[in-house]
Amino acid sequence: MLELNVGNISVQRIIEAEGPVFLPEKFFPAATAEAMAPHLHWLQPKALDPETGMLILPFQSYLLRTAHHTILIDTCIGCGKNVPHRAAWSNRTDQTWLNNLRAAGVQPEEIDYVFCTHLHVDHCGWNTTFVDGAWVPTFPNATYIFAKEEYAAAEAGNTPIFQESVLPVMEAGKAKLVAGDFALDDQVWLEPTPGHTVGHVAVHMASNGERAVMCGDLIHSPVQCAHPDWGPFVDIDSELAYQTRRNFMAGSAESGRLVLTGHFPSPSMGHFVAEGDAFRFDYLED
Ligand SMILES: [Zn+2]
Repeated sequence: MLELNVGNISVQRIIEAEGPVFLPEKFFPAATAEAMAPHLHWLQPKALDPETGMLILPFQSYLLRTAHHTILIDTCIGCGKNVPHRAAWSNRTDQTWLNNLRAAGVQPEEIDYVFCTHLHVDHCGWNTTFVDGAWVPTFPNATYIFAKEEYAAAEAGNTPIFQESVLPVMEAGKAKLVAGDFALDDQVWLEPTPGHTVGHVAVHMASNGERAVMCGDLIHSPVQCAHPDWGPFVDIDSELAYQTRRNFMAGSAESGRLVLTGHFPSPSMGHFVAEGDAFRFDYLED
């Protein structure tokens, strides 16, 4: 499933890629073969590839069309970027993501807000495109919403990712730095969900009594439903990330709100349900 409605907000997944990416024990230090054994039967084949033994992750954006706005949440990996820690994401030439956006009926010029849940490369890569020797905003008419704390940390880090995918947006006057609980209007607002990064946010949406939330990277794989304490090596503050993850799943289970995940395998969307002292994830039907 790629598309649904939350009240009168249309929500559509724009996928860049999906496939086996990380070995569980490499991504989650706690996920030893012994610890993973009881979960293989329910993770395979959707979330864990039986052939390679790797976790299957999509890289995707969510396109929202509300009565007032056309909004992108996260912008995947992008093309031509310099990603020192991950060769496979460096200097990509694959236009799949942009083609998928256009196939959804939206031209880059029509996006009026871009939200980044955080400023890791797989969430801000298409923020910019290389044109005539310079990085320029891919969405020329959009305001890019960054959480203040997230921007400050990225600026201090000053990695190639910041220089190529974030700073040019600021220099073009297209960035708006906001508090972690910023509300765009009564349909779309942010919630601070720190831990994976310092200024990580989730993006909530509501319309006609229906609720959904895009959770970014506060959780990466359904195996963390059974083990909320399993944090990926990429979390900047493991303990805080754990608290955020557990609270988020508990809040979602309690409210019954739909969750749009960044990296759970397709269809990526569903509901957290409390199960003992942990959770499970009920996917929407494909
Ligand atoms: Zn990510």
